[in-house]
Amino acid sequence: MNRPGPAPFPAAIADAAAIGGGTVHLRLIETTDLHLHLLPYDYYADQPMPGFGLAGAARLIEDARAEASNCLLFDNGDFLQGTPLGDVVAYERGLREGDLHPVVAAMNALEYDAIALGNHEFNYGLDFLQKTLMGAKCPVVSANLMTAPGTRPGGRATLARPYALFERAVVDGQGGRHPLRIGVIGLAPPQVVTWDRHVLDGRLWAHDMVETARAWLPEIREAGADLVIALAHTGIGPPRHVEGMENAALPLARLDGIDVILMGHDHLLFPAPGFSAVPQVDVQSGTLAGKPAVMAGCWGAHIGVIDLVLQRDAGTWHLVQSRSHTRSGKVMAATGCAGADRSRASARVAASVRDAHSATLQSIRRPVGHSDVALHTFFAHLGISTALSVVAEAQRRHVAERLADPGLRDLPILSAVAPFKAGGRAGPSGYTDIPAGPLALRHIADLYAFPNAIAALRLRGAALIEWLERSAAAFNRIRPGTSDTLLRHPDVPGYNFEVIDAVDVTYDLSQPARYDAQGRLIDRKARRVVQALFEGAPVAPADEFILCTNSYRASGAGCFAGAGRESLVFRDERLVRDILRDHVARGAPLDGRRRGGLGFLPMPGTSAIFETGPAARAHLDEIAAFSPVERGTTRAGFLRLRVDLSAGG
Ligand code: MN
Ligand code: MG
Repeated sequence: MNRPGPAPFPAAIADAAAIGGGTVHLRLIETTDLHLHLLPYDYYADQPMPGFGLAGAARLIEDARAEASNCLLFDNGDFLQGTPLGDVVAYERGLREGDLHPVVAAMNALEYDAIALGNHEFNYGLDFLQKTLMGAKCPVVSANLMTAPGTRPGGRATLARPYALFERAVVDGQGGRHPLRIGVIGLAPPQVVTWDRHVLDGRLWAHDMVETARAWLPEIREAGADLVIALAHTGIGPPRHVEGMENAALPLARLDGIDVILMGHDHLLFPAPGFSAVPQVDVQSGTLAGKPAVMAGCWGAHIGVIDLVLQRDAGTWHLVQSRSHTRSGKVMAATGCAGADRSRASARVAASVRDAHSATLQSIRRPVGHSDVALHTFFAHLGISTALSVVAEAQRRHVAERLADPGLRDLPILSAVAPFKAGGRAGPSGYTDIPAGPLALRHIADLYAFPNAIAALRLRGAALIEWLERSAAAFNRIRPGTSDTLLRHPDVPGYNFEVIDAVDVTYDLSQPARYDAQGRLIDRKARRVVQALFEGAPVAPADEFILCTNSYRASGAGCFAGAGRESLVFRDERLVRDILRDHVARGAPLDGRRRGGLGFLPMPGTSAIFETGPAARAHLDEIAAFSPVERGTTRAGFLRLRVDLSAGG
């Protein structure tokens, strides 16, 4: 059998374990950020998604357990939300007294030793979460999320138990049994209270993770823990502790009482070479500030494994060696050795989920909403896209309802959207193309193809104009009086062409581009934005706005001016696709009407060639202002339209 990933039982560890009496090999196994990926199925596309899901991870867990005599299994949170199955359980079926949530049933079947709460556990509100957790057979820990305001870190009013302490009889290299007391403390980003403000306001409070751990650790030690494990739903952020920081694994690892840290939240893998430049991080041994650590990605595609060698001297345990690695279920799927049929653990997970899975399949095949108009991206570059308007409005509404700071709520909220499916390399059928009528879940995925999370930035008018200039790199320069230039720059993909909903921009395409296709400023004097209006008035450089966008763009991808950490004022990890689905399901009227948009400065006697999908023929009336004339099709199959720029469209 092909064995994926690194050697599952590091030679050095095996040797140490073999030393024998009083030396114990303890293996910690982590899942994290499952986001309710239980079976390997993409409910948006309505097709299997091999290599993902807890059912596949169960096989990895089963193997990892078989290789070591002492194992503990933990989940590090964000298990409750993330696929349509979660909505089916929460909204369609509901949890009655005594009902087991499928993810809890699955974790019970796999015999987890402890579970920590992440931030997404709160998406469905506190009551639902509490009903869910009642079914868990193992301790659920969370030390910094409180049900009362005002108490200090270390206060007693925690939502779940702050830590768990349990004893296991561990077996040493010569078969001798020893008691080992394990303390497990749970921590989650305090931002959870803000991110889910709409369901948690006045019901949940949070403390800083590092301060909370510092407050609890002495008690855990005094209670007799030989080994303290932090189940920290947090990623590797900056080394320095800042009150309330979201990714606090490094300052946590530096705390004296913590021996091992299991991470999550970031959806990344650790150990991984990408972290090699971060101070206090050792990607070879897999340690943070010298403490063994692991992070197992997300969606059940990986598990994290930490092998510890513990030595018992005169009744006291010492951690003498460690090694961390992650294992991939995708590799297993690719090598054909995964599958519920071949693993008992996978089969148990599958059995726990079966009913909810079929209910979810029924649900995703039912209409989620209705659109009065066809939603497509054929003409997004001409400033006309019903599909983009719908996404923009869903984003705007989500952010508007959740902006906590009154100083921000008073600013105008704009929404930036891009036609992800806009031909190019995706070919002539690579457009969003949804007929008017009922919308099913796969249409939502067609409207929003990437699993980006929502984000919002605070920007000055000057940055907004730069944003629009960057976007204008999507057009070729058109010489006045010509008729055969391609309108679109072939090297700018749809996702880097942004339209800002509620801003009316006029581009002068006779001007050179200020930015190149990669977003580099190439001509400081060049200006294509002739005018940008918000509610009829020009956007002034000092004006302030909230701009709704996504996690990808907010992280700086595509080089849009002003995107970055400094300007980020809202983020809640909710996928824009889910937000859009909720928006549609709420019965919002989908008329695709745009609030603002883009247009071109009239160029008398000038036209350009606009290539789009041949299915756009059914919608040519929408671009009547460009007097489109068909000019055949390209070899790749794109429809060529001559668009008249005399009137600017
Ligand atoms: Mn997560
Ligand atoms: Mg998280």
